Amino acid sequence: MGLEARLPNGILLTSVEKFVGWSRAGSLWPATFGLACCAIEMMSTGASHYDLSRFGMEVFRASPRQADLMIVAGRVAQKMAPIVRNLYDQMADPKWVIAMGVCASTGGMFNNYTVVQGVDHVIPVDMYVPGCPPRPEMLMDGIVKLHEKIKREQFVERPRKGESMEEFRRRTGWLDPDPDEPGVSMAGGGSQLPQVRG
Ligand code: SF4
Repeated sequence: MGLEARLPNGILLTSVEKFVGWSRAGSLWPATFGLACCAIEMMSTGASHYDLSRFGMEVFRASPRQADLMIVAGRVAQKMAPIVRNLYDQMADPKWVIAMGVCASTGGMFNNYTVVQGVDHVIPVDMYVPGCPPRPEMLMDGIVKLHEKIKREQFVERPRKGESMEEFRRRTGWLDPDPDEPGVSMAGGGSQLPQVRG
């Protein structure tokens, strides 16, 4: 006889982490934020045909302080990188990031000194959506996969308040960048501008 048979109706057993993860996954609020052409597809995803409201996230917040999801839709110019970081820092904790499209994920075809070669040089990314541009179905697939990731998250996996990117990376082993790799780095934490090397 299992434990279920001994419990009265209406009793629900779970762990606090699972319950909190389930609640967070079902109440994501994206920031109103678009950088380039991918943003048009993101707007389509939020419109009536694709209906993001089925996930409880149709309200794109106009203030980062009311948002906990950043969808980086479009290429990140070097000039825009510190602003992206600033918006990320102002968002409510815990927060998540989707890199939408090849430009946000890797720089895409813009392999030059003006474009950050992947927004993960500036902020931590939880989900990468490929494509140029990704169709709304692809973004929604990334959102659903992010939901699954959030449900499995443990409390210690997020950057702590005031923790720099380097400290977070060292603590979690989330990313171990090759110091000799040419490209962009955020040496010294998120308050500095990206430095072009190589
Ligand atoms: S991935 Fe394509 S659609 Fe998206 S920002 Fe880059 S060029 Fe534009």
